[in-house]
Formats: sequence, structure tokens, C-alpha cells
Amino acid sequence: MSTHTHYDVAIIGAGMSGLAAGIRLAHFGKRVCIFERHNAPGGLNGFYSIAGRKYDVGLHAVTNYVRPGVKGTPLTKLLRQLRIDRDEFALCEQKQSRVTFGPRGAAGSVSLRFTNDFAVFENEVAQNFPSQIDGFRALVAAVRAHNEVSLDAKPVSAREIVRRHIADPLLEDMLFCPVMYYGSAQEHDMEWSQFVIMFKALFFEGFARPFDGVRVIIRVLLEKYRAAGGERRMKCGVKKIITRENRAAALVLDNGEEITATHILSSIGAVETEALIEFSIFDSRFSIGGAAAPFSDWRGSAQSKIENRKSKIPEGRLSYVETITVLNRQPADFGWGDDTIIFFNDSPRFNYERPEHAQVDTRSGVICFPNNFAYPGDQQLPEGLFRCTCLANYDLWKNLSDSPGEYRAAKQRWFGDIAASAKRFLPPLAQPAALESATVATDMFTPLTITKFTGHAAGAIYGSPVKNRPGRTALDNVYLCGTDQGFLGIIGAMLSGISMANYHVLQK
Ligand SMILES: Cc1cc2nc3c(=O)[nH]c(=O)nc-3n(C[C@H](O)[C@H](O)[C@H](O)COP(=O)(O)OP(=O)(O)OC[C@H]3O[C@@H](n4cnc5c(N)ncnc54)[C@H](O)[C@@H]3O)c2cc1C
Repeated sequence: MSTHTHYDVAIIGAGMSGLAAGIRLAHFGKRVCIFERHNAPGGLNGFYSIAGRKYDVGLHAVTNYVRPGVKGTPLTKLLRQLRIDRDEFALCEQKQSRVTFGPRGAAGSVSLRFTNDFAVFENEVAQNFPSQIDGFRALVAAVRAHNEVSLDAKPVSAREIVRRHIADPLLEDMLFCPVMYYGSAQEHDMEWSQFVIMFKALFFEGFARPFDGVRVIIRVLLEKYRAAGGERRMKCGVKKIITRENRAAALVLDNGEEITATHILSSIGAVETEALIEFSIFDSRFSIGGAAAPFSDWRGSAQSKIENRKSKIPEGRLSYVETITVLNRQPADFGWGDDTIIFFNDSPRFNYERPEHAQVDTRSGVICFPNNFAYPGDQQLPEGLFRCTCLANYDLWKNLSDSPGEYRAAKQRWFGDIAASAKRFLPPLAQPAALESATVATDMFTPLTITKFTGHAAGAIYGSPVKNRPGRTALDNVYLCGTDQGFLGIIGAMLSGISMANYHVLQK
């Protein structure tokens, strides 16, 4: 008699998509367990403490925010499907954000402001690019008309479609910069549906944040999951998926234990899920010509087929660094105003690509001031926070991983360079030394941190550039959700978990 624990569904990863899938399945009476390698839930959107201070790992803003009463959007759908009251997330709206190309005072520098009211953005485009406004409106109509969640849409270049409407390359790049930084695993271009998802998430909908950061959202998800009877095993990664006849027959955990599950949802990425699969001699995909093959042939054939398929799922190349500066004053006290998020670029064209020859590319980036959300009763975060994200090269950071001294020195060097680059896009400081003397703590994550929190190969922030909307894998009962299924961000990842749970498990 088998002593294995059996689940209806095993979920790999307790990030946003895994937690949301778990809640949905547990609500429908499934026996479900989430296996998480890390000691804390949240994945890329978790939080950590240093010296008693809590830091969000990735959160700048929750995208897709809509006000109460707006129906049929990702946020409202996910609240309904997870039976969450919107007040539980306690989301507070952004004040205002902008895309700025060209440093302060430089000839040709342009800013496009936006808020959670799309009319503000449209008006900014009309003011700054009067010759492009008709094209911009036509683009907006195309975005509205597109069904971005279709599971069988053919991939199309977003650059091509945007260029049909927008002739000015500066405006084109200013539209791509925010949507790429917040959700493109592809360099230079995006798949059109992905562009539409992100355009709606950022500009039609908008930004919000709970006063206490991402831990509010994680707490709500964990409570719902527990109350619905879901099980969770932390510090308990999945090491291997054992197959039999094209199905996952068992999961081997990091501690060597084996469990079985009728369905497996993996939120860890396509390449990373494939890497767990250990094909069995009984897997018909690896029989040769339908007949039993000598073991040596079988081995060779299986190996080459695995390699073959792996090459079809490209690893992501894009990674980020982020600096966090904690201040004993609010950002506004430095004359930095009310901006919540600033997407910046200093080059003639916006280069969304992995920097080949440097660990970090400081030419463009994202500044985030978590203080600048409209918190209830004009409440203020107790400390100022200045976060700045730039593109980074995983391999060049990885080369330093064996030398803690060099790694630390590189972090220190880039911390200064990133802050210097970002400050060019902020109002000048009255006293340049003021920032340093107001700094009470700093931290920085690198591509290696991303791998630590997500397990993503090559620190790929948004996973593989090729997304797998139906979430199917080589195995009939293993499905993808989250980053590599294609919906990104906190809300996108949760919706991905819900939709894959519905599609592959509940609707079967
Ligand atoms: C720097 C940064 C800033 C971001 N900012 C925002 C933002 O402001 N707003 C926003 O909406 N989104 C933001 N995002 C995007 C958002 O964080 C992600 O899209 C989303 O959290 C992905 O969730 P997920 O569940 O798909 O994957 P993940 O968060 O990657 O979760 C996967 C989980 O699987 C676990 N795991 C990996 N391998 C194994 C294994 N073998 N066994 C068990 N467990 C395993 C990992 O530890 C992890 O917990 C940001 C991302 C980054 C990196």
C-alpha cells in the first residue's frame, strides 16, 4: 500500500499566482497544497526585514487599480473570484506619475504626466505632441478593441501596430518605456496582447498601494487560503517531477519526500518547470519508432528530445537592479514634489535591452516614491523611501558571486551611479549634501536576488520572452501559471493563477 500523500492539486510556488490559484481551488473543495522553496510567501512580491525595517521586494505600485463601482476589469474580476472585499486590500491611489525623456533642463526634454484618470494622459499627449494626437486616439481605440486575454491569439509585434498610428519615434518610445519596464520579458519590442495588457493596466486603470505595502495583500491571500482549507508547505521546494506515460506521476521534494497529485500547477516559469521533469522509460514520447528501444538508444534519444524542447523555450535575458534609500524625511521635503512613479530615459532612443558590457545600464530606469500615494487622512509613511530600478546583466553579476568583496564593491559603485542618474530627472536639491545626511538605511537588489526570490534562470525578471497562454506543458497534468503564462504584475499574476485553475482543473 502506498504511503504517499495525495493531493487533487499540487501548486509549485507561493507567489501571487500560486496563492490565488490555491484559494480558487480550495474554495471549490479541492485538496490542494502549495509547495514553496523559500521561507516566506509572495515570491517576487514578498517582503523582508533588515534591522527591524520591513522592505517590499518588488512592489512599486499595484497596477490595474480601478475605483469602486467600475466593473469588468482585472481587479474586480479577481476580487470576485477570490471572494475578497476590495476594502481588505486597502488600496490607496497614486498622486501622479510621469514619463520623462531627456534630463532636467536638457534641450528637447519632454514629460508626459499621468494619473488614474486617463484624460490627464491624453491631454498631455495632445499638449506635447499635437501632430500625433489623432494617431494616439486611434491607437487607444485599437487597444480598447483588442481581446488581450484570448488564449489562442497569434503573436504580433506591438511596435508594428503602434507605428501604424504614431509617426513620432519620441512618442513611440515614451509609450513603450513604462509598459516595457512594468511587464516586458522581450527586448526592443513586445507582443501586441502583452502591450495591450500593460497599457490598460497602467494608463486606463492605474496605480495604488496599501499603506503597509505588499504584506497587506499577502496577509489577505494567506487568510483566505487557510480559511478555505488549503495546505501550504514552506521551505519545501519541489526538486523533481517524475513522469509516467506523459503525466507527472510524483513530485520529489527537496527533503526527498515523494507526493502525488492529480494536477500540478507550476508558477516557477516554463524553463524552470521543464528542468524539474525527469522523464521515465515508460514515457511514450521517448520510445523510438513506437517500439521498446535499447536503454542506451533510449537515453540518447530522450536526452536529445529534452534538449530539443528546451531550446524552444528561450530563457529570459532581462534583469533589473533596484536601489532603496530610506530617508528620515519625506521626498517632498527635498523639493521633489508629489510624483509617485517616474519612468526616465536620457538617450535619443529608449533601449530596452540587456546591457552587454556593463553590470547596469543607468541611461533609463524607474524611480518610485512609495510616500506619494494618497493615504487616508493625509497619513504619511514614517520614513521617506526612494527606490530606483535599472536594467542589469545577470552574467556579469553572477561572475562576482564567488567573491563577496567584489560583489559588495560593485553594489556600492552602482548604487551611487544609479542615484546620480535618477537625480537628473528630479528637481534639483537645494543642498546637495542633504540627501546623504537624511539617509538612514540603504539596500539594493541585483539579478542574483531575483533568482533567490523566484528561482528564475538568469535572474530573468519577467521570465521567458515567449509566453504560453494556454499554460500547457509537455506533461498532460502539469500546467503553468504566473510569469510565463503571460499575465504579469501583482494583479496579472493572481488572475493568471485563477484562470489556469479554472481552465485546467475546475472546468474539466
Ligand atoms: C523589481 C520588481 C518590481 C516589481 N514591481 C511590481 C509592481 O510594482 N507592481 C506589480 O504589480 N508587479 C510588480 N512586479 C511584478 C510582479 O512582482 C510579478 O509579476 C509577480 O509577483 C509574479 O508572480 P508569480 O506568482 O508569477 O511568480 P513569483 O513571484 O516568481 O513566484 C514563484 C514562487 O515560486 C517559488 N519557487 C521557485 N522554484 C521553486 C521550486 N522548485 N519549488 C518550490 N517553490 C519554488 C519561488 O520561491 C517563488 O516564491 C515587480 C517585479 C519585480 C522583480
